Amino acid sequence: MFRFTTKTGFSLLELMAVVAVVGLVALIMVPRLSGSDDSSEVAACHVYKGHIEIQAELWRTNTGSWPAANLAAIGADTNYFPEGLPTCPVDGSAYTIDPATGLVVGHTH
Ligand SMILES: [Zn+2]
Repeated sequence: MFRFTTKTGFSLLELMAVVAVVGLVALIMVPRLSGSDDSSEVAACHVYKGHIEIQAELWRTNTGSWPAANLAAIGADTNYFPEGLPTCPVDGSAYTIDPATGLVVGHTH
């Protein structure tokens, strides 16, 4: 049995309380989602590393050898990097590879 037989739905006061709580939660959550720390840069660095290593592998498949350690030729080739060679979003440094393995050196952020 309903105890509040005269009441239907939410009162204005209850709705305002809910809106206030939702607003408070949003205020707490938004700064965390917008990433004021550098974890998104670290994630981007890892994506760039993986992309460079894939393109280096492709370069080796096409040319028979790994690209130069400083990635000069492959970085300038728009077939491999149409938007140019990326730099590390964490520290702004250029990527280099180990010419023996084709793997990016460092960037263990
Ligand atoms: Zn990096």
